[in-house]
Amino acid sequence: MPSQSRLRTGTPDTGRPREACGIFGIFAPGEDVARISFFGLFALQHRGQESAGIAAASRGGSISIHTSMGLVSQAFREGDLEALKGDIAIGHTRYSTMGAPKRANAQPILARGPNVTLALGHNGNVINASDLRNELTGWGLSFDGSSDSEVIAQLYANAPARNWPDRSAYCMRRLRGAYSLVMMTGTELVGVRDPLGIRPLCLGKFGDGYVIASESCALDHIGAELIREIEPGETVVIDQAGVHSFVWPGARSQHAMCVFEHIYFARPDSILDGKRAYATRLAMGAELARLHPVDVDLVIGVPDSATAAAVGYSRESGTPYGEGLVKNRYVGRTFIQPDQKLRDLGVQLKFNPVPEAIAGKRLVVVDDSIVRGTTTPRVVKLLRKAGASEVHLRICAPPIISTCHFGVDMGRMTELIAAQRSVEQIRAFVGADTLGFLDMPGLMRAVDVDDNRYCRGCFTGIYPIPVQLDMDKLQLERPTAVAAPKPIGVRS
Ligand code: SF4
Repeated sequence: MPSQSRLRTGTPDTGRPREACGIFGIFAPGEDVARISFFGLFALQHRGQESAGIAAASRGGSISIHTSMGLVSQAFREGDLEALKGDIAIGHTRYSTMGAPKRANAQPILARGPNVTLALGHNGNVINASDLRNELTGWGLSFDGSSDSEVIAQLYANAPARNWPDRSAYCMRRLRGAYSLVMMTGTELVGVRDPLGIRPLCLGKFGDGYVIASESCALDHIGAELIREIEPGETVVIDQAGVHSFVWPGARSQHAMCVFEHIYFARPDSILDGKRAYATRLAMGAELARLHPVDVDLVIGVPDSATAAAVGYSRESGTPYGEGLVKNRYVGRTFIQPDQKLRDLGVQLKFNPVPEAIAGKRLVVVDDSIVRGTTTPRVVKLLRKAGASEVHLRICAPPIISTCHFGVDMGRMTELIAAQRSVEQIRAFVGADTLGFLDMPGLMRAVDVDDNRYCRGCFTGIYPIPVQLDMDKLQLERPTAVAAPKPIGVRS
């Protein structure tokens, strides 16, 4: 008997790694900053779909915040945007990698300290948040939610410093992990990228004002111009006098941006490390074609993230490219689990094959990754059912053998199929005729930057900083541990 199915609301189990968050900020006196933030968040929706929020303030005034569960389009009504008046705004769209997906963890988060009141939006994952939270509790601070982001907000608001360079230097010395931040006070917009630069962050010009966003695609959508990517360890402060930038001297020269941003997370029209993600993915597909050639009739990609790599494979191999799978972009908030019949239906709701394009054909199917291996067998099955005579799977990333600690939810080590099985065993499990992964040298050639600049931990098990191997994303949901003693000379 199949187990009883239940209806769950939340991000659907796509079997894919899930990004932590998208962040956006704007300093533009005289503009409708809340509405512009809304459009900016819309462009960053792919980075998080559980909750969304915007904070705004007029010059010197108090900060108003609206947050809600759901997609950006569901989180705001016209009246919510009209109520968020101001010259400065920040916005956030969340997928939880630490702390449960609940309203108290939605962002932006407000934090008050002795020297500054700020609102904060965070993308990433801080791996020593539990220790810091205990320490801050010992200072007499309390927490409304269970996210690492609230720990960062409290740390910045209560840092023993009176200006942003000192505040950031203090916090960068204490925080370990991934944190791209947007923050605002009543007079300033602030962007921070952690010293390893794990998550992206960029700065743009918007009329007489400025914007900060996780990805440059958000700038394009609001008509802003990309100035540059924010450097690892850099704090950018924007106020009435213009842009001020400080790089923490302790920022390591060996940066470690997440290479998965290039493979999958970032939108293909975004610029990462000075290069359009679409061009990088074309190059990944070409590398894959050289590494794993096969005689077939058609190359297709699993939409949308593998489309560019499939085009690259097709061009390099000389095999025609076609659209064999159509994606329903509006499968979203409700998903049915856990019995097999309904899980298969879930994949059918998301992808539909085009039989006329693939019937009787030998296919190369390019995908971006195999994480738990839950979706891939169903995609292969759909293609065979639609008449494909052969299905050769090509993955434009190496096998994922270790979990992520820096803001990407891949599940636990025991759930990662490549941590448990050989390539041949995975091939048999997914039901493909052949299976080929991109190797690390090919991936590094495709991103075309010095390979020391990337975190590749999920492919190698070697991380840019020491990590606790099996981390629990709900660790801050547990009752607070005994508070650490107040550190001498840290806070009055
Ligand atoms: S472990 Fe993987 S997903 Fe996580 S930051 Fe490193 S490269 Fe990115």
